[in-house]
Amino acid sequence: MNRPAIAIHGGAGTILKSQMNEEKELLYRNSLIEAINIGWRILIEGGTALDAVAESVRNMEDNPLFNAGRGSVFTSDGTHEMDAAIMDGRDLNAGAVALMCNVKNPILLARVVMENTHHVMLCGDSAVKLAVENNVDLADKDYFFTQSRYDQYVNASAKDKITLDHSSEGGHGTVGAVAVDKSGHLAAATSTGGMTNKKPGRIGDSAIIGAGNYANNKTCAVSCTGQGEYFMRGVTAFDVSAMMDF
Ligand code: ASP
Repeated sequence: MNRPAIAIHGGAGTILKSQMNEEKELLYRNSLIEAINIGWRILIEGGTALDAVAESVRNMEDNPLFNAGRGSVFTSDGTHEMDAAIMDGRDLNAGAVALMCNVKNPILLARVVMENTHHVMLCGDSAVKLAVENNVDLADKDYFFTQSRYDQYVNASAKDKITLDHSSEGGHGTVGAVAVDKSGHLAAATSTGGMTNKKPGRIGDSAIIGAGNYANNKTCAVSCTGQGEYFMRGVTAFDVSAMMDF
């Protein structure tokens, strides 16, 4: 039997000390602990790495502190467009969604794409239709509104800048989880609102298998955070796996 393990992240960027206080720090720490414990419990009870990463990420999507699901950042049009991907290291099966504006938990829909369709990535109306057909909850735009993200958007927009979630004001970013279960299977999941003030229609690395998300039992599981354009150019998540494949 394999020893299970899980790692999660809550996004890249720098939260300035001046924008942090003890209370805030505790809130962030406790949120991360809550998310990792959800996946960890699944693993120690013999569940799959896939369930563990999906549930840890779903928890962070529901937490407005993170730039994914509920706390997603704003596009330059003042809308939300979320990307997510999940990959099963057992068989390299993968699913992803992009530009989702009304799906409560994009990671759950990415999993539905992987498990219930012949495709890897969906966006647009057919992705929303798939959500409805598979009982993946939708939410209206008010659900995704958070004042701190809105302030970041106003700030970035005034400076004509596209920013990582942490760059301008406190807050966590893109979320991700990687895990190995008792059977030695690996999985990775990543979810994001993207970057503040991004162009509508911009898809980031988090939705792209091999760029921001990858898992292969032979090598490793990877979930990236940071400016997605670099990860897409470098096919980074796959590259890490390929470097381990000797
Ligand atoms: N990688 C994400 C993106 O480019 C941003 C992030 O990690 O915060 O969409």
